[in-house]
Amino acid sequence: MGKALIIGAGGVASVVVHKCCQVPDVFEEICIASRTVSKCDALKEKLDGGRTKIQTAQVDADNVDELIELINGFQPDIVINVALPYQDLTIMDACLATGVHYLDTANYEPLDTAKFEYKWQWAYREKFEKAGITALLGSGFDPGVTGVFSAHALKHHFDEIHTIDIVDANAGDHGYPFATNFNPEINIREITANGRYYENGEFIETPPLSVKRVYDLPEIGPKDVYLLYHEELESLALNITGVKKIRFWMTFSEKYLTHLKVLENVGMTSIEPINFEGKEIAPLQFLKAVLPDPASLGPRTKGKTNIGCIFQGVKDGEPKTYYVYNVCDHQECYAEVGSQAISYTTGVPAMIGAMMIMTGKWNKPGVYNIEEFDPDPFMEALNEYGLPWQESFNPTLID
Ligand code: NDP
Repeated sequence: MGKALIIGAGGVASVVVHKCCQVPDVFEEICIASRTVSKCDALKEKLDGGRTKIQTAQVDADNVDELIELINGFQPDIVINVALPYQDLTIMDACLATGVHYLDTANYEPLDTAKFEYKWQWAYREKFEKAGITALLGSGFDPGVTGVFSAHALKHHFDEIHTIDIVDANAGDHGYPFATNFNPEINIREITANGRYYENGEFIETPPLSVKRVYDLPEIGPKDVYLLYHEELESLALNITGVKKIRFWMTFSEKYLTHLKVLENVGMTSIEPINFEGKEIAPLQFLKAVLPDPASLGPRTKGKTNIGCIFQGVKDGEPKTYYVYNVCDHQECYAEVGSQAISYTTGVPAMIGAMMIMTGKWNKPGVYNIEEFDPDPFMEALNEYGLPWQESFNPTLID
């Protein structure tokens, strides 16, 4: 059917590549392009020989001209951006210049401040529409599947949704005293930022990790969950008509938070560069260099993740609650694609999003968040490609 250019060769990209190769009728050819070409070559070596033809390329995705040259050479139908959020705009510019669809899993962030805002990417709406191409924003798990779950709930279970609680739990244990499950810089920037939730038309800020509840998750058990801001809150507040309140909750163990507190207190999580022995270094980037590489956690991680959405609203004049979630087992993911569940739960929806666009199931020129498309074919594909969902019509609610 077509060709996809995958940019990035990290934890998530590895899963995207494995999954594309499982659907060779759609992904006839892929090109894996990243800053360090040896990582792309290593992936090709692992997966070569199947029906999906694989090539690799070196690219600096901060450089629009290099990207345009690469796209013109390979002629893909879509670019799957699984590099870092810093590269979103340059890759979108290159897609516009070449008339190719775009997909990512995280919103654009400027290097100096973590803002988690869609405004920079939403500013491209008219340009993509005029060019007749689609930019699908946030096709990972959260953002991503959480938006599809919300669209599914609104389409099939509610006349009005009033409250959404997104609960992201990771009960995996990698055996290290402290490590992050994906890019430490992105992860720590997210957690040390203020919490924020949406209520009655406005966002309310809370100090970092100051709001805590205990939630008993299916197949995982009771866990401490903390209120965080997460980027899908911004788009869901606009796209799920009638919603009054949206909160995002993530699990952290006490051990993880104690390490983080200490690192924060001594200044190691700061992104402000300091002068060390005549050289400028950002403490957080140095910390990243000394922490275990997230890619190395795969073989060691045991346990499950559970990510889902709890909805409250109204159907046929009656109050209704609904919970839809996916449970993913770290070791099963590792056995299938050689990565733990955090990369798996992001990489599978990225492949599915690309498949939706390449097969024409989702066909809407412009820049869109995932909940703006018909959720049905995506929900079906989740069951088929490794992230089956379960539902409950009588969930415990979070107060
Ligand atoms: P990694 O750090 O493992 O991989 C990032 C990759 O991008 C690396 O291969 C890196 O190259 C490459 N890269 C970085 N800068 C450039 C550049 N300028 N040009 C070309 N390549 C570049 O990250 P992850 O795989 O863990 O995460 C990938 C994305 O997925 C991130 O944007 C992250 O925020 C997002 N994510 C989304 C989630 C969701 O549910 N929506 C959950 C988890 C992650 P090099 O090897 O040279 O460093």
